[in-house]
Amino acid sequence: MGNILCPKCKIPMVLNIETSPTAEGLRVNYFYRCKNCGYKLEDAIMLLKKTEGGYEAKMVEYVS
Ligand SMILES: [Zn+2]
Repeated sequence: MGNILCPKCKIPMVLNIETSPTAEGLRVNYFYRCKNCGYKLEDAIMLLKKTEGGYEAKMVEYVS
């Protein structure tokens, strides 16, 4: 991975994880955000399907 720099500020961006419920389970959104200007860069989206034992990764989509 390594550091992702904000294109505007040239400082390292912070990795954030955001989850939201879906009909089947959970949607996990990985994105980088700049602490200075708030610029957001989407990294990956993972769809989790609810199973008896917990969650199962159904699909991972890399945005960049
Ligand atoms: Zn910035």
